[in-house]
Amino acid sequence: MTKYAFFEGEIVPIEEAKVSIMTHALNYGTGAFAGIRGYWNEEQEQLYVFRMLDHYRRFIQSGKYLLAQMDYTPEQLVEITVELLKLEGWRQDCYIRPLLYKADTAIGIRIHDLRDAVAIFTLPFGKYIQDEEGAKVCTSSWRRVDDTAIPARGKLTGSYINSALIKTEAMLNGFDEGIVLNQNGQVAEGSAENLFIVREGRLITTPVYSNILEGITRRTIMHLAQEEMNVEVEERPIDRSELYVADEAFFCGTGVQIVAIASVDHRPVGEGRIGPITRRIRDLYFRIVRGQEPKYRRWLTPVPKT
Ligand code: PMP
Repeated sequence: MTKYAFFEGEIVPIEEAKVSIMTHALNYGTGAFAGIRGYWNEEQEQLYVFRMLDHYRRFIQSGKYLLAQMDYTPEQLVEITVELLKLEGWRQDCYIRPLLYKADTAIGIRIHDLRDAVAIFTLPFGKYIQDEEGAKVCTSSWRRVDDTAIPARGKLTGSYINSALIKTEAMLNGFDEGIVLNQNGQVAEGSAENLFIVREGRLITTPVYSNILEGITRRTIMHLAQEEMNVEVEERPIDRSELYVADEAFFCGTGVQIVAIASVDHRPVGEGRIGPITRRIRDLYFRIVRGQEPKYRRWLTPVPKT
């Protein structure tokens, strides 16, 4: 159970971190957020937070779309989060949710002349998709929010209605997740995760101009494939029909981590279960995030034990 939150400039008991029903962000979706994972290393009895600074840099970028007056640097937000995690003392994997929101209790649709507030809370967190080695996926009937309507590069609370529609449609139809196409009819990503396919030994992922969120896990995988696995990465648009003939496909993201796609629209991808390249990337990723690869300790923030 979560005990604390960072709220209105200080760490307070979670019960005190409350906003009014009149809060602007609650009424109009005028907020931005981040999602960060902490990994518990049982052997070392140590909690590591993965790429926290990068997440806070993107968080602040998302705030720019909202004309947010941000009182904190990414480094300060890292410090605050470490303090919060020290107090919570999680001895298991956890999730960190920073939230920036228009905090005024005001009516009127705009993003200017409103007070910005930052809150952070953490909670224990396990799997996001149950079958991580074989997710059943559909192509969504929804289209990915277009950058001409809402900045697709921002993690903006209001635009997650788009993700929620995709996820719920997929699950109510018996799938684990949906893949969303963009306005050009080409693949963008999953409802809350980026996507890679494997064709002839090469990794292919959709480019930033496909209206994807510029994922930190995606960037991590591109780096690891090229630097550690000698696997080429191609960043280019992917057609829906390519999903059906891919040798492997997987989702990646902070929440989902790395999840192999077993089928798309009832068609098996490759052998219909996790493929060799996905498995290698997944194994390496989990060793890195849990602090078992000294070379990549620079991506981890250890939370001092209290
Ligand atoms: N796309 C969307 C729409 C997301 O919500 C997320 C999760 N933040 C991602 C991709 C993956 O991004 P990241 O790897 O930075 O978590």
